[in-house]
Amino acid sequence: MARVFVITGPSGVGKGTLIRALLARVPALELAVSATTRQPRQGESDGVSYHFLSHEEFDARVRAGEFVEWAQYSGNRYGTLRSELDARLARGVPVVLEIEVQGARQIRETMPDAVQVFIAPPSSQALRARLEGRGTDAPAQVETRLLTADAELAAQCEFTHVVVNDRLERAVEELVAVVRTELATVK
Ligand code: ADP
Ligand code: 5GP
Repeated sequence: MARVFVITGPSGVGKGTLIRALLARVPALELAVSATTRQPRQGESDGVSYHFLSHEEFDARVRAGEFVEWAQYSGNRYGTLRSELDARLARGVPVVLEIEVQGARQIRETMPDAVQVFIAPPSSQALRARLEGRGTDAPAQVETRLLTADAELAAQCEFTHVVVNDRLERAVEELVAVVRTELATVK
């Protein structure tokens, strides 16, 4: 069975940025497109950034058992559809999940062989600066995400791998090294 890589950590820490660099460096990996009830941001398109679902559609797919994990985050729901994983894993393609901490915990229970990497910020101030600097979230949304981040940062001790996203190039190197080592390890 191919490997599953879970990349988690607080919003704004740089998960998406690091994953883009990781996929460029390790082309064998494919990213699972998550489902969400949140509204698309400018530039996001359906089926690429996310599968954008209404609350009703999301509910129906939860009831149908279509999610391997899902969580409530900052007023919306986010989840990984089984269909994003199964075909790839059957073909031997390693898959990357970019998910928040509650979802990572669910994957830990159901897929104990999944490799889990927590991305940590160099400081709380840096996290705030990145979230504000990204400019995608309204001020109230930034505050909610930072409050959630406190609890998420307290959970980093649960993770085997913790990569501090201080200098981007250095953090990319560390993440690539973790992934290449795990890919070379037969489970
Ligand atoms: P996440 O996916 O975890 O929410 P993003 O990848 O969107 O985070 O990154 C949040 C912001 O921080 C973006 O504007 C990104 O360009 C910036 N960023 C990412 N990594 C670094 C870094 N190492 N140093 C400074 N800024 C960074
Ligand atoms: P955003 O709204 O910034 O795109 O995402 C908010 C949070 O939801 C981020 O921490 C992101 O990693 C997380 N997230 C994205 N997709 C999923 C998913 O499929 N499952 C879970 N549990 N979290 C997700």
